[in-house]
Amino acid sequence: LIDGAMQSEFVDWHHYLPCDRAIAVQTKLAGAPDPFTRSTADDAGWRWRIPLQTRLGNGHVYSSDFMEQDEALQKLLAGVEGEPVTQPLPLKFRTGHRKAFWDKNCVAIGLAGGFIEPLESTSIHLTQMGIQRLVNLWPGRGCNRSEIAQYNALMTADYERLRDFIVLHYNATEREDTEFWRYVKHMAIPDSLAAKLEIFRSNGRLIPSPEDLFTPHSWLAVMLGQGLYPQNYDVLVDRVPAQALLKNMQMLRMSVAKTAGSMPTHEEFIRRYCQASAA
Ligand SMILES: Cc1cc2nc3c(=O)[nH]c(=O)nc-3n(C[C@H](O)[C@H](O)[C@H](O)COP(=O)(O)OP(=O)(O)OC[C@H]3O[C@@H](n4cnc5c(N)ncnc54)[C@H](O)[C@@H]3O)c2cc1C
Repeated sequence: LIDGAMQSEFVDWHHYLPCDRAIAVQTKLAGAPDPFTRSTADDAGWRWRIPLQTRLGNGHVYSSDFMEQDEALQKLLAGVEGEPVTQPLPLKFRTGHRKAFWDKNCVAIGLAGGFIEPLESTSIHLTQMGIQRLVNLWPGRGCNRSEIAQYNALMTADYERLRDFIVLHYNATEREDTEFWRYVKHMAIPDSLAAKLEIFRSNGRLIPSPEDLFTPHSWLAVMLGQGLYPQNYDVLVDRVPAQALLKNMQMLRMSVAKTAGSMPTHEEFIRRYCQASAA
């Protein structure tokens, strides 16, 4: 409806996020499941490995500009642990969004409104934001043009913030060993991300945005994790005596260790609260 009847333009971000294909396959789980998802960079994208209680979900997200499906499938199957229990499922997608999520009496939510490749599993969050913002601006009699404009501006900002965070994962890479990684390392990035990187590079500041799903901790992890360090530090740091800072950090470390020490293991937690019935 949004595409055909309303002809709402699609804002295509393929040039920022060239991954546009995925292949998914499930495999048998051998041993206890890890309590985390693993995402591993590959030659033209990345692979996921998601441990569930009874099986592993695996997938390969790649850019069809840089890799053929046969090679992507081969790489996926070569990288999985355990025997496949499903046929590999190929998927196609486009990263981007409708310029107008809401037009007249038609509102596009979920995939109808847009999609950001699944590196940080953000789609259901965006669907939720679409619903929440619509409820906040729920129309009475007729649709108010200003409210529609407000909805579209807020949704566009939600998409752009998440886009920037995902683009950072690629653009901050140190890899230059394949055509794909050379492309993402040297591509033009959105101005909003460039400004954020410039501030961080110059003084280590990450200005929190209350609407951002990803807090400065997440941004910092991706930046430092890829070797992106600031040239200088935030001047506000000088106002805190080094001894006090050290003491705070030590207390934080102790508090984390104490909490972690009192927690059940992943296996124990599952057994106690949410054991799946045998597959
Ligand atoms: C590889 C991959 C991994 C992902 N991982 C995650 C993740 O970890 N976390 C996350 O949040 N999201 C993830 N997503 C995204 C998530 O799957 C989607 O955001 C979500 O399924 C979209 O839901 P939807 O209802 O908008 O669309 P859909 O799930 O596609 O539902 C649309 C429904 O509408 C029906 N339909 C279509 N046309 C018509 C019509 N004309 N009339 C009637 N019915 C119609 C379809 O049959 C379908 O049932 C991932 C996506 C991919 C591709």
